Amino acid sequence: MADDMPAELELELADLAERLTSPGERECLRCYLLRLITEFGCDGTYRWTVRWGDVRAAQPRGLLRQLERRGGFCDCEVLMNAFPEYPASCALPCAGVSKPGSAKPCDLGALRKIA
Ligand SMILES: [Zn+2]
Ligand SMILES: [Zn+2]
Repeated sequence: MADDMPAELELELADLAERLTSPGERECLRCYLLRLITEFGCDGTYRWTVRWGDVRAAQPRGLLRQLERRGGFCDCEVLMNAFPEYPASCALPCAGVSKPGSAKPCDLGALRKIA
């Protein structure tokens, strides 16, 4: 019986990590990257971009090509170069995209006007 505990705890932790790193249903790529890079950093790859793309994008591979063209060659560069109109330190909650899976960032400007 005592052996059950660690396995259960392990599962719970894996589940928690899964939930922490999974993109929200209407969370845009920009806010997702900002959240994950703030929390876990950039490892020089498309780790989080790919994760978002796998879950959200209709064509994950097309998404990477598109971001590459815009100067994003890893997660933090995508955040800085593909979405330059957004302040990198802006920690507003994601305003949500109207169409799930759209790589278009949410309209934080609209959110700011309300606040
Ligand atoms: Zn990077
Ligand atoms: Zn957003």
